[in-house]
Amino acid sequence: MSDKKQKGVLVLAEQNNGEIHKVSYELLNKGKELAEKRDLPLTCLLIGGEVISAEELNYRGAQTVYYIKDSSFKIPEENSYKENVVAFIKEREPEIVLIGATNFGRSLAPRIAAALGTGLTADCTDLQVNEEGRLIQIRPAFSDHLFAHIKTVKDPQMATVRYKEFAEAQRDTSRVENIVMMKPYMALCSKSKIDEIIPMDDMDITEAEVIVAAGRGLRKKEDLLLLEELARTLGGKVGASRALVDAGLAESAMQVGYSGNRVKPKVYIACGISGAPQHLAGMKDSQTIIAINSDPSAPIFQVADYGYVGDLYEVIPQLIHAWRKEETE
Ligand code: FAD
Repeated sequence: MSDKKQKGVLVLAEQNNGEIHKVSYELLNKGKELAEKRDLPLTCLLIGGEVISAEELNYRGAQTVYYIKDSSFKIPEENSYKENVVAFIKEREPEIVLIGATNFGRSLAPRIAAALGTGLTADCTDLQVNEEGRLIQIRPAFSDHLFAHIKTVKDPQMATVRYKEFAEAQRDTSRVENIVMMKPYMALCSKSKIDEIIPMDDMDITEAEVIVAAGRGLRKKEDLLLLEELARTLGGKVGASRALVDAGLAESAMQVGYSGNRVKPKVYIACGISGAPQHLAGMKDSQTIIAINSDPSAPIFQVADYGYVGDLYEVIPQLIHAWRKEETE
């Protein structure tokens, strides 16, 4: 085995504009547990173009951080990232590769798996190692009604892991800083062209403390402005049901649910959302759920702490007015 081949557990760190996504620290926590069980090294691959505090990944448990740095990687872009991750994996041959099930990770991971001709289990909620040392990838199926245990026969065994599923690895600054700077295997892919950079913060609803989510009760795209106004009033962000995303009225990054984002805000306001199990799977752990729906028998009311039976077009302006009034008093 050449010294480049490590047969270890590899965590793909996610960054945007130089800031490391917290899911990377969660993956390192789980990755450390798996690596220790298999007596393998835990390494981390970081791709970026900014001044990034790569040593943070060492402090969180990565024995070695491989940092592929190029100015073209400042903003994550799937095609060029894929080329670099695939080349890195082919060279180092890790046994296990963990990627965050963020919007970016969900788009990137299948491209890597397909290029390597290996399997991928998406949206895992737990990972274990069996007696033979193989990775058992656990993920909910049928809207969280059962948990599938999935094994990949080929290496690398690849999984994306849901954000906020595991605790972050403890930060220990006494850990050795071991960063290997690498040149890109390929810089920004000529096939891709970035037209517009939308600040991640505008799109990422997973960190929001308040989410105002829109469902098929919304009649047209412009009506999202009403929900945006409510979200702004409360310092929150706008989410959406899949029905709204499928209808092209909302961006997929806004989707909450089984096949979208899993969120746990302090307040979740579901507007014109029926409460299908697949939607509930993504938001039922919110601290306080408020539902606005014209149908008193809508299932969303069964999980809501507070419910308004009424037309969202009437209720939301009243809520905005009431909250603003309270603020000025
Ligand atoms: P509907 O079910 O059509 O509900 C619209 C609601 O709006 C109704 O309750 C109605 O009473 C109310 N309404 C209408 N007009 C008004 C008004 N003026 N004021 C107030 N209320 C009004 N769904 C997700 O959301 N997220 C997922 O991640 C997801 N993943 C899925 C994965 C799989 C494999 C499958 C099969 C489905 C998935 N779905 C998901 C789809 C899910 O089953 C539902 O179809 C979807 O959640 C319905 O969205 P909705 O509640 O907006 O629409």
